[in-house]
Amino acid sequence: LAKRSGRNAARFYTRELAASVDARIELENSLRRGLRNGDLCLHYQPQVDRHSGRIVGIEGLARWQRGDQLVLPGEFLPIAEETNLIVDIDHWAIRAACRQNRIWQQSGLPPVRVSVNIAAANFDTDLLLDTVIAALEDSGLAPEFLELEVTETTIMRDVQRTDRILRALKSLGVRIAIDDFGTGFSSLSYLGNYGFNVLKIDQSFVRDVTEPNQGAITRAIIGLASQLQCRTIAEGVETEAQAAWLASNGCDEMQGNLFSPPLPASECARLLARNTIWTIPRQQRTLTAH
Ligand code: C2E
Ligand code: MG
Ligand code: MG
Ligand code: MG
Repeated sequence: LAKRSGRNAARFYTRELAASVDARIELENSLRRGLRNGDLCLHYQPQVDRHSGRIVGIEGLARWQRGDQLVLPGEFLPIAEETNLIVDIDHWAIRAACRQNRIWQQSGLPPVRVSVNIAAANFDTDLLLDTVIAALEDSGLAPEFLELEVTETTIMRDVQRTDRILRALKSLGVRIAIDDFGTGFSSLSYLGNYGFNVLKIDQSFVRDVTEPNQGAITRAIIGLASQLQCRTIAEGVETEAQAAWLASNGCDEMQGNLFSPPLPASECARLLARNTIWTIPRQQRTLTAH
């Protein structure tokens, strides 16, 4: 009896597995088609300066318009990473972000940086450098208005290789940010040697930043960054209390739904036209004046 049910169970699992393999292949093909047909787009989320409340940067985040459904990266990045399609997606994103930023600048909006997330697989070849050069040339965007976001995990995967590519990118004048800082394991000596332009404080620290322990960690990150002449951007800022804490503790820039969620390019242009989208609370203004 046990044997028989075992065999049935095996048959059942095999069928399930086959179905899920089919579903994954279908998802991959569909994503590949989507990329080719222009169904991917970037949504743009502003980063505001803590002193002026002005937009100084914008992060481009990939979205997939699959029929009438807007699919978020969490649902398609895993398969894109497994199949290396992520390299094509990131190269597309770099070009799209440069083009869009140049369009904003040419229409007279205040100049801001645009940032793009770069997955680890992009550091397996030297194609990234060529794509960045081509994207800047084709769009006419000056390199200082492009920022590339990499995670600590990406850097530590193959330090020498990544370092060589990041240095080449930096020598073009492109800015480099460490994304999700504090959640991976990066070597502090590497941080010191390389000279990153921006350190993005992960949302997990920001969430409870007004509590003493989380606040202490965040203050230490801000202190470390400022010693290294590196700007700090807090991610996922959702409340005025978090923003006030961050602004008065020296975090240079903030990004999150409090200011704006990621928006389609046309809606983000409207925010850019307003330029100042946040006012530092009055008590904090006197605090930071000292
Ligand atoms: P990330 O680079 O750390 O981006 C921040 C994520 O936090 C975004 O999620 C953003 O929509 C979300 N977010 C922003 N403000 C808030 C807030 O106030 N509260 C909360 N709860 N969330 C907020 P999204 O757009 O779903 O992207 C998720 C991740 O996918 C990104 O994390 C990034 O690692 C990756 N990603 C997105 N686009 C690309 C891309 O073009 N290429 C690559 N390689 N990765 C991408
Ligand atoms: Mg990012
Ligand atoms: Mg992040
Ligand atoms: Mg993240």
